[in-house]
Amino acid sequence: MSQRIPDRVDPWRLAEQGETLSGSLPLASMPRLAALLQDTDHDVAFTLRFGRDRDRRSTVKLDVQASLVLECQRCLDSMTLEVDAETPMALVNGPVEAEQLPGELDPLMLAPEAYLDIAELIEDELLLAIPASPRHAHDDCIHPREQGAAEPAGNEQENPFAILAQLKEGGNHN
Ligand SMILES: [Zn+2]
Repeated sequence: MSQRIPDRVDPWRLAEQGETLSGSLPLASMPRLAALLQDTDHDVAFTLRFGRDRDRRSTVKLDVQASLVLECQRCLDSMTLEVDAETPMALVNGPVEAEQLPGELDPLMLAPEAYLDIAELIEDELLLAIPASPRHAHDDCIHPREQGAAEPAGNEQENPFAILAQLKEGGNHN
């Protein structure tokens, strides 16, 4: 099922053709992400599904799965964040088009003839999936520095997807 994936693709043409690309990339090849990782010796698996929606928009749905080894910000030991995220996006040429998108589609801004750098897109998605302050679940911390220290109960649960959703809601500033 793994294909030879080019580094850069023409997303407009792939959308026209309804193509699906899937494969994997080494985390070590993503420098901004690798800087945050304690272990870059893994791959990220991805699937990109290009197509058109009802309104004839060119769309791409990105699925990524990766195990990211991060430093827990509570105990400073390593922790693994399992990322399994699906992001529906629409290809847009500029901010005006981006603003007109329905809420469920994230804008993927590209010049009309521009190519899409797959590794960069995936790296951006993984960066978004990392919480601002990654932590183990409370019981998994090896040396809790502030045992029993007050932490608002609502923040207890580490749910990267909730955080991702928050980022997505407020985060499209470009
Ligand atoms: Zn910890």
